[in-house]
Amino acid sequence: MDSFSNQTGLPVVERVIGAIRDNAALLSEIDGRVGDGDHGINMAKGFGMAASKLAADRQSGAAVSFSNGLAAIGGILLTEIGGAMGPLYGTFFRAMARASKDAAEIDAAVFESMLVKAREGVVGLGNAKVGDKTMLDTLAPAVEAFSTSRVSGPGFADSLCDMMKAAEEGKESTRDLVAKVGRSSRLGERSRGILDAGAVSCWLILTAMGTSIRGLLGSPGSCQDS
Ligand code: ADP
Ligand code: MG
Repeated sequence: MDSFSNQTGLPVVERVIGAIRDNAALLSEIDGRVGDGDHGINMAKGFGMAASKLAADRQSGAAVSFSNGLAAIGGILLTEIGGAMGPLYGTFFRAMARASKDAAEIDAAVFESMLVKAREGVVGLGNAKVGDKTMLDTLAPAVEAFSTSRVSGPGFADSLCDMMKAAEEGKESTRDLVAKVGRSSRLGERSRGILDAGAVSCWLILTAMGTSIRGLLGSPGSCQDS
């Protein structure tokens, strides 16, 4: 399959929420080495509130789409979560929701526009560049890889593998970088040798999204198998 239905795509959002909540301790532990150790706590709080909201919406009988789920995360992060990541990931998820809300089917072209808008939002707000040791070191190469792959045409499911591979490499690239923006930049050279917490959370989000969308497209299993 080359697309999935927006109306029935909420499980993708639930998988993303689960990935963040399951890894909250890891994210705070990483942030604690170069920052203030709150990244996992902030993220788990926001994503937990989003999970509660989505559960309540569904219980009230509302139809909650993939885009509605993304919008719920974005709205809660923007209004309820502080730190650097509330506004940055709030913008990321709201941009993804807006780029997909009018599409009945989410295909590779729609997903590419979601990624591009999410990156634009993060760059527009935080003004970071690739190499500054932030979430953007995961996001930017992942977006580029998906776009390049989509044009060369292996199909949506395979392009998601290319996205996830680039996200993983981007995340790993932050280990050798010196932080240029955000709280960890105060450490200067001492931030080298440790992964960036936001780069790790962005990798978790893109991996959960890519893997669960591949499942909806009928390509479950690992990327190497395909
Ligand atoms: P805080 O730094 O306020 O404690 P968090 O711990 O929630 O916020 O998030 C820290 C993460 O935010 C960093 O690991 C980095 O990836 C990301 N970050 C910080 N500043 C920026 C920025 N200007 N642009 C993109 N990402 C940023
Ligand atoms: Mg922090």
